Amino acid sequence: MNENLKKPLMLIVDDVEINRVILAQFFKDEYEICEASNGEEALLFVEDHPVSVILLDLVMPIMDGYDLLARLKRDDRFRDIPVIVTTARSESDSEVRVMDLGAADFITKPYNPKVVRGRVRNVMSLLENEWRKLEQSAQSQEIVDMRRRIELDALTNLYDRDNFCRKAASFMQMDATKKYVIVFLDINYFKVVNDLFSVETGNLLLRSAAAFLQSVVSTVGLAGRLEADHFAMCLPADALNIDEVIQGLDGVVQSLNIQQNIRFYAGIYPVSNVFLAVSQMCDRAHTAVAIAKGRYSQRYAWYDEKMREDEVEEHLILRDMAGALAEGQFSINIQPIFNIETGEDFSGEVLVRWYHPLKEFIPPARFIPIFEKNGFVARVDRFVWNEACKLLAYEKETFGRVTPVSVNLSRLNFYDEHLVDYILGLIKQYNLEPWMLKLEITESAYTDNMHLLIDTVARFQKEGFKILMDDFGSGYSSLNMLRNMPVDILKLDMRFLEDIQTDSRAQAIVRNVVNLARDIDMEVIIEGVETQEQLDFLKSVGCKNIQGFLFAYPMTKDDYLKRFVNKPEPIKA
Ligand code: C2E
Ligand code: CA
Ligand code: CA
Repeated sequence: MNENLKKPLMLIVDDVEINRVILAQFFKDEYEICEASNGEEALLFVEDHPVSVILLDLVMPIMDGYDLLARLKRDDRFRDIPVIVTTARSESDSEVRVMDLGAADFITKPYNPKVVRGRVRNVMSLLENEWRKLEQSAQSQEIVDMRRRIELDALTNLYDRDNFCRKAASFMQMDATKKYVIVFLDINYFKVVNDLFSVETGNLLLRSAAAFLQSVVSTVGLAGRLEADHFAMCLPADALNIDEVIQGLDGVVQSLNIQQNIRFYAGIYPVSNVFLAVSQMCDRAHTAVAIAKGRYSQRYAWYDEKMREDEVEEHLILRDMAGALAEGQFSINIQPIFNIETGEDFSGEVLVRWYHPLKEFIPPARFIPIFEKNGFVARVDRFVWNEACKLLAYEKETFGRVTPVSVNLSRLNFYDEHLVDYILGLIKQYNLEPWMLKLEITESAYTDNMHLLIDTVARFQKEGFKILMDDFGSGYSSLNMLRNMPVDILKLDMRFLEDIQTDSRAQAIVRNVVNLARDIDMEVIIEGVETQEQLDFLKSVGCKNIQGFLFAYPMTKDDYLKRFVNKPEPIKA
């Protein structure tokens, strides 16, 4: 073997030669390729070669992929070598297991050259970014070193994030046979304490809570402040009494005489592998906190199997999204909205659909929130608006008339100063008019950033677009606020309909919303109508525009156009 390697070194570990040959073909231009036919050989090889990346098959004789991965991650010398696992599609649970063991990514057989190369490139460029960040921060290394030496967070005297992670890792690895937990603690409405009381009160709360947590871990574990109002503890599982911890923290809040609903919530991660990065364990415990916050009864939640699967799925979604858009995996469905008085369509709502080649249908409720976190939703939205305009243009050309449709605008779009121009551009490009494309904006977006949103929406209205407030009643906007909001059509949140037959308050709300909207000349759409009983009630209070499975499911463009032919509707100018 040539020791003066110019190209980076890739190690392909697979017991089946043909697999190694195929993978070697994909990468021979970019990498110097070496091969091993089982884990043991591979381990011997990395001992004395500077391997940059490993492609690892899971099922092999002698030492299998799981075993090799675990050994690599346990060894300081090899921990940072990215390992990309190759699995057969049938090994269903393997994805979760290998991500847990610290694999950088996985690819499924049979190999698609484009996908395989893309994955490796992706992993390597993420790694490069990490290096770059490290290099950039090298200048401030002195400061970091100083902090390292101090190790403690100045405010609370607990370990800061960096040091908590390092110390917790060595603490657990000292006796890897024990069971450990990472507890993540978060204060809800902490900002309120700072705003309503004072920063000093906020600091006092943090300091007192820290002192209490330190007393909890005392000699059996360690505690840290990760950032702001986020704390973490690492201790043996049998040393944790979470009820006592929560009670103790409640005691701290009470002793400071803070009258607000300030509460600590906890998420607990049972450590399955002490060699996993502690920051990742903290993230998992953090995920569990979110579940605890959504509950009324219990102030803590354990990180469980379901969350682990969600995490893996989120990883998949993030990994595949850009390729999915390029490869045309996204499409639109349209759900008609009926006017029960005229028996004709009021409009249709355009909804995005993602048919993933492996996972098949992924519901938007699953991927849109993830896309919202990383901004990709803006690209998907633009795709959907384009498709919607194509549909309208087709109707106009083919039938000489148009039934308007509405599209969803994620809140993120409002940070784009060209939003109005972009949509106006589409309208021009497809030779349409603004009334044909209604814009749905969810209620919570209005309360997020009121001023920004109101200005933009008012501009849309001035151009002639109709604005729908989606999910009305799900958040905090009151009926009164509506008077000052630029909104033309209210879409009532689906949850009101759930118990409409039995819940008199839900009935009163729907009745009042419909009346108020009529008073201020706003239209109302009721969404999620599934039963005849719901429809009867809605009719009795004067609702006209209905969207729901009782009338029609979201349908493909072709099916929608077929209905369109059968139900002619005069053009509304
Ligand atoms: P949404 O905007 O409230 O959309 C209405 C959702 O209600 C759709 O789900 C629709 O299929 C569903 N629905 C309609 N009638 C009924 C019914 O009678 N019963 C029940 N149970 N559900 C009904 P879908 O298509 O799964 O979309 C879910 C959410 O994903 C949407 O809620 C919206 O927030 C988001 N979304 C969908 N497409 C887009 C898009 O193109 N852009 C953005 N930003 N978000 C989208
Ligand atoms: Ca909607
Ligand atoms: Ca809705």
